[in-house]
Amino acid sequence: MIIAMKADARPEDIQGVLDKITEQGMQALNLPGGDRTVIGVASSIPPDLREPLTELMLSMPGVDHVAQVSRTYKLASREFHAADTIVDVKGIRIGGSEIIVMAGPCAVESREQLLLAAEAVKQAGGRILRGGAFKPRTSPYSFQGLGPEGLQLLKEVGLETGLATITEVIDQHDVELTMEHADILQIGARNMQNYPLLVAVGKTRHPVLLKRGPSATIDEWLLSAEYILSQGNPNVILCERGVHPLDRAYTRNTLDLSAIPVVEEVSHLPVIVDPSHATGDWRYVGAIAKAAIAAGADGLLVEVHNDPQHALSDGPQSLRPDSFHELMQQIRRVAGAVDRTV
Ligand code: PEP
Ligand code: MN
Repeated sequence: MIIAMKADARPEDIQGVLDKITEQGMQALNLPGGDRTVIGVASSIPPDLREPLTELMLSMPGVDHVAQVSRTYKLASREFHAADTIVDVKGIRIGGSEIIVMAGPCAVESREQLLLAAEAVKQAGGRILRGGAFKPRTSPYSFQGLGPEGLQLLKEVGLETGLATITEVIDQHDVELTMEHADILQIGARNMQNYPLLVAVGKTRHPVLLKRGPSATIDEWLLSAEYILSQGNPNVILCERGVHPLDRAYTRNTLDLSAIPVVEEVSHLPVIVDPSHATGDWRYVGAIAKAAIAAGADGLLVEVHNDPQHALSDGPQSLRPDSFHELMQQIRRVAGAVDRTV
């Protein structure tokens, strides 16, 4: 059970509800949300107590409404928040009827490289420029990103082209610096369960794109979203990017396509798909991107590089500008078939 307090509830109203739950022998969770406090009942409530407890809560001062939430995640669940959440990034609405495409290189390599990709993204109709400055690489000997210099380049190229920006943050101590340089903070698949990092981005109000871990269940993914939401940041976008594959000989990961309608059903948060990391091969990116839109995804995160053969990371899965342009045209047609726009 979730008890949503009114926005103008007084501290004594909140304490009153917490005490009342404790008096009933149950554990109360105080979740200071974005603009209002939400109180959760962590203990399971016997069915015959549900109605009297709901009545009791509704009679208390400062209580707005009570929702029955059976899932382990509360704030991320649709039982708690029925309407779709729309995350607004500089006027770009993620989770509404428009499909939002984020694209750009895996890593920021140089000003020239980023600008070429950004122009291609913009020209084809992409809305948000991606580019990693802090790269979480499997090998410590691989290119680790340009760090703060990469963030600066991303900010400059974003301003120059008028594109909003997204970049990954891998260390809780870099959250503030990264926020100053990018419009969306990306939490990578490897960090989906880096709880101090989730808490750090949760303490901000900056939009956060939370990727699903390669072995994470949907409940684990949504519980990671809950870490961010329960710190008071409501601006969470989910990103499915493929789970560990059965057969790595052909694809890098396996896109869990059914996760899209499932998450759509159980959560109000927007969900997008990364077809680049899902496949690891540029030849399959288009098919998976189109399938994702047909399945109801709210957007895409696509790797684009003007010279994939010489890319410092993820070249084999990066689309060249002309392939990206063609994909965007196809995406428009698929979007139209499911009553969405691009
Ligand atoms: C990326 O987006 O470049 C990336 C590292 O992705 P993931 O976290 O999904 O592996
Ligand atoms: Mn990449």
